[in-house]
Amino acid sequence: MNESPETAAQTEDECNYFGGCPICHKTDGYVNVRSSHWFVCDAHRVRWCIGANLFSSWKDETEGEQQANWAKIQEYRDVTPAHLQCDESVACNTTTSVCELSF
Ligand SMILES: [Zn+2]
Repeated sequence: MNESPETAAQTEDECNYFGGCPICHKTDGYVNVRSSHWFVCDAHRVRWCIGANLFSSWKDETEGEQQANWAKIQEYRDVTPAHLQCDESVACNTTTSVCELSF
């Protein structure tokens, strides 16, 4: 009996819609800088922006919180996120043109 190569199902964890750190393929979540959402990997100090105003969470943050967010990630390296684990049917579009890089 031959095993089907399709049986190696990927878990949800392995397919991060917003990409992952190009080194470890993980993310520590995102922070908001104004309306832009930056995903980060704290272990490797990298960041990538996945767009702006996709989540409403940024509206609940004070300017002080946002500046703290930016202070945390401004030294991080801009990277192209890894989408290697994503199914091809999942659109991993990023719209970096809308991202704000500073205050
Ligand atoms: Zn990493």
